[in-house]
Amino acid sequence: MTADSNILFADSFVRQWAEVILPLAIPKVYTYEVPEALINTCVPGTRVEVIFGKAKKYSGIVSALITQKPAYPTKPILSVLDQEPVIYEAQLKFWKWISEYYMCSEGEVMAVALPAHLKLNSETILIYNEDHQIDLSILNDEEYLVAEALSVRQQLNAGEIQLILGNRNVYPVVQKLLMNQICLVWEKLNEKYKPKTENQIALHPEFNSEEKLSALFDSWKGAPKQMQLLLAFLHLQKTEGIVAQAALLKKSGNSQAQLDALCEKKILVKSRARVDRIKLMPNKIFIDFVLSHLQEQSLQEIQQQFIDKQVCLLHGVTGSGKTLLYIKLIEAKILAGKQSLYLLPEIALTSQIIRRLEKHFGGHVAIYHSKFNDQERIELWNKVRTRQISVVLGARSALFLPFQDLGLIIVDEEHDASYKQQDPAPRYHARDAAIYYASIFGSKVLLGSGTPSLESYHNALHGKYGLVELHERFGGMGLPQIELINTNQMMQKGKVMISPQLHQAIEATVEAKRQVILFQNRRGYHPYLLCSSCGHIPQCHHCDVSLTLHKYSNKLHCHYCGSVYPKLITCPACGNTGWTEKNFGTQKIEEQLETDFPNHQVARMDVDAVKGKHSHDALIKLFEQHRIDILVGTQMVVKGLDFEKVSLVGILDADGLLSFSDFRANERAFQLMEQVSGRAGRKEAGGKVLIQTSNVSHPVLQMVAAHDFKKFYHAEIQLRKDFFYPPYCRLIRLQMKHKDQGLLMDASQLLAVSLRQDFGDAVIGPAEPVIARLRNQYVMEIMIKLKKEMGMKHKKVIRHHINLLLSEKKYHSVQVVADVDPV
Ligand code: ADP
Ligand code: ZN
Repeated sequence: MTADSNILFADSFVRQWAEVILPLAIPKVYTYEVPEALINTCVPGTRVEVIFGKAKKYSGIVSALITQKPAYPTKPILSVLDQEPVIYEAQLKFWKWISEYYMCSEGEVMAVALPAHLKLNSETILIYNEDHQIDLSILNDEEYLVAEALSVRQQLNAGEIQLILGNRNVYPVVQKLLMNQICLVWEKLNEKYKPKTENQIALHPEFNSEEKLSALFDSWKGAPKQMQLLLAFLHLQKTEGIVAQAALLKKSGNSQAQLDALCEKKILVKSRARVDRIKLMPNKIFIDFVLSHLQEQSLQEIQQQFIDKQVCLLHGVTGSGKTLLYIKLIEAKILAGKQSLYLLPEIALTSQIIRRLEKHFGGHVAIYHSKFNDQERIELWNKVRTRQISVVLGARSALFLPFQDLGLIIVDEEHDASYKQQDPAPRYHARDAAIYYASIFGSKVLLGSGTPSLESYHNALHGKYGLVELHERFGGMGLPQIELINTNQMMQKGKVMISPQLHQAIEATVEAKRQVILFQNRRGYHPYLLCSSCGHIPQCHHCDVSLTLHKYSNKLHCHYCGSVYPKLITCPACGNTGWTEKNFGTQKIEEQLETDFPNHQVARMDVDAVKGKHSHDALIKLFEQHRIDILVGTQMVVKGLDFEKVSLVGILDADGLLSFSDFRANERAFQLMEQVSGRAGRKEAGGKVLIQTSNVSHPVLQMVAAHDFKKFYHAEIQLRKDFFYPPYCRLIRLQMKHKDQGLLMDASQLLAVSLRQDFGDAVIGPAEPVIARLRNQYVMEIMIKLKKEMGMKHKKVIRHHINLLLSEKKYHSVQVVADVDPV
């Protein structure tokens, strides 16, 4: 080696500092020094062990490396946990954007984005995995020590492990044990999650070859029904890959006994298997449909739009076959070697859609939603990261998966308000975040809806997005005919929920062996009780809302905080004992229907009826198999379901939908009614929708009745323009909370005044929201209506005003939450 290169070598060690994101709601990233020994492994996207505060150890993520010495003293990074990054630059960029756009910290983004497995801190509890398959001799002394302690104690938190190891590095040890599944991260939240299982049928291994199978058929005697069942099985196996018992019985029309007989003969075998688990299915592409001429044309238009537009809105009426277009687009991406993400609102992620996708893409597809436990998350996380998975079907949180080469994002039901995360931060809108995320990869976004949001349609008409419209249902099926029923008189006469016209229509439908869906936007038995003499309405003691009477508990429930109260006998206000039941919820309707239609099956679908998503799926399955004739439900019945035999849809109380004071009330009402209507007559003509209202001339109802989205759009957008609401402005809502009402009033006034120095008239409020007290905290709101052109800069200014307020000792304990683009 020459002297020169020696010098070069000595010089090539440059001191480095790393910016580290910690999973905390602290405003910025923290800087740590990278020790020389770690310089090669400490790269952006890897996790590192650091001390934050006095002695607490965290695992954080390196977001960037810098070579300039910071002006303040820095602590060293203790260890690097990953051999390669767990996320890529794209995700780091995405997190940063979310934190800036939605006014939260990167740590808060990290907290929702990473599976628990990748977010270790001293409170993380690790449980021993009895079933691990690891030969402990591969472990080093420290790892072995901890594994032993775990096997004895069954669970330890990271702090306890720190004690066991003395002051040595903890997380690398934990990481090694986790990687080998010797222990698992215990999660409180998912404790109650019961994996969904179903009976699946497979060929007995004995018959797993063509020859043996044909020999079986050659020697078959008698039992023609069983033969038919076996044939149906073989067919399903070919098209679906995995055969669910329920699907098989439905398809073949055979009985359980016939199936059991085949199992007894050891021709078929039954097993219980997880349904939404990532399955080991062959990677296949199986397209067994041909697009109609119109669909084909729309597909080409979409591709055309994608040439110069990043985003395209597909406005296709319900039942037009949007899902099939998505499938074709995804197919093209798989063939091009790119990944796709198919987003749906959580509740629409039913086994119906899951099966549809699995049928077409087999092992290419994985499902991702918030109910997954950590083990499943991490499994999928790694498969997406290493590109073993090409298509993810998921709810909004799937946006945080570490895609490497994303070619397409589909946002189905893009108008759906549940794409917006409410609590906790980051309060992001998955549709809008998807558009940014895709832009990082230079990839395309398809927004799909039968009733687009005003924002998206506006963007499409103004050329920001491409627009493709599909006005016809597949198979030339017309949209269902909609009739408005005037309930004025009927309501005055008493508490009739179902008008004679609707009653008759239900009767005719069930008699004709068809199915009915009834929609009511209120849960429960009676939404509230009203004192018959003074009009007093029992309220929650902690929130500003009326209580709901639940029949099974016979108690009053608060739907906001969950408090439960005994049913009142005497009115606390006037002492009388007469109560009127006001309005009607799904549970009451269900009961009424059971009385009215004793010979038919009635079921209810709302959050009370379907605790946990699996009973939701179970109900859908029952309905699909026509073991339910009449289904009553809330929003849940609306989302994207495809049932063949529904020919009547009833909307029980349109007034309730139109009576909200929010500026989006009309839009919501239109979308909801149009979407529920879309469940009728999907496969056969003659679908019918009856809407009960006391205001038949309401313009929104008239437009729903005419299925006239465009007219609705133009009327509504004019209002938004006149009153300067989105999409013409950008809204930021500051929600302030405190136990002390006086203090909160002062603080909110002060903040509004301070904000007006920079934003003038754009600041509205403070005002009490509709629900002015929640869980014993008073609430005030300030709205800021900003011009569209203003960039990210103004958010910093807003944050500055908030910090100014909170820096005053008196207001230190006021909670201020910023919600950007609230829905
Ligand atoms: P949307 O999502 O637009 O409401 P879907 O994609 O669910 O509509 O399609 C409605 C129904 O019509 C589905 O049952 C679907 O399988 C069927 N369908 C649509 N297009 C075709 C096609 N080209 N070939 C066969 N079936 C189709
Ligand atoms: Zn309450």
